[in-house]
Amino acid sequence: MALRSITRKTLLYKSGVEYADYALNHAEGCAHGCTYPCYAMMMKKRCGVVSSYEDWLQPKIVKNALELLDKELPRLKNKIKQVFMCFTTDPFMYEVEEINRLTLQILQRLNRDKVKAILTTKGVYIDQLTDKQLYNEQNEYGVSLVSLSEAFRGKHEPFSAPYKKRIEALKKLHDAGLKTWISIEPYPTPNIIKQDIRELLGSISFVNKVVFGKWNYSRVTTSYIHNKEFYNSMACEVASFCERHAIKAHIKEGTISPTLLGPSQSTERVTLANYM
Ligand code: SF4
Repeated sequence: MALRSITRKTLLYKSGVEYADYALNHAEGCAHGCTYPCYAMMMKKRCGVVSSYEDWLQPKIVKNALELLDKELPRLKNKIKQVFMCFTTDPFMYEVEEINRLTLQILQRLNRDKVKAILTTKGVYIDQLTDKQLYNEQNEYGVSLVSLSEAFRGKHEPFSAPYKKRIEALKKLHDAGLKTWISIEPYPTPNIIKQDIRELLGSISFVNKVVFGKWNYSRVTTSYIHNKEFYNSMACEVASFCERHAIKAHIKEGTISPTLLGPSQSTERVTLANYM
């Protein structure tokens, strides 16, 4: 069944987020249906754009996305450092062909003007992206990965791609010489799931960059009494893993509580990780 569609007046916007310059969202809603809850869904519900979780699960495609790019890129292309895809939807929605097709077309259009994209998905990357004629070699392909437990995925990211498939597809892009990264956010506290972050890190040791951030927007983590010490310890683990494997690390603002760092948790190392 074809997806519902909408038209927009503009597509590219200045993100205002610490690690992204411009951004675009070529769909409204997301079939992955994360239950953390999804911040984008909460915002859209608050504005009355999306009526319910079920509504959010059925994305509407922005049918004039390519026309908008044709209009906006001539004016903006020299200002844009990179375009982030996406903050309020997912560019490679698992088994949603129409979205994935439009994403490929958008990437090709950006590449025609030599504009680089940074992507993140809970879906599966497509092998075609290794075609360096069509897709910018400087693009950075990211996967969101906060656990390796499929039981966790079933509960919190119910319609996203299985973790193994996400990692395998990312590795293929890496093996083709493309830049890859992992977003470990929102990382769950032990009252949500007990897991060893070193196993997760070990499964993605090939990537060029790791972004780590805490689990926001839910009382479950703040009610975990040791949550500040926990995130300090996890951030140090990520920073030292990245240092050992020559991977760039970015610990997101607000993840670390500097005054609570222990003597063995080098503030310098964790802080430095942000500037690598
Ligand atoms: S994949 Fe991202 S946009 Fe989609 S539901 Fe999950 S958190 Fe929201």
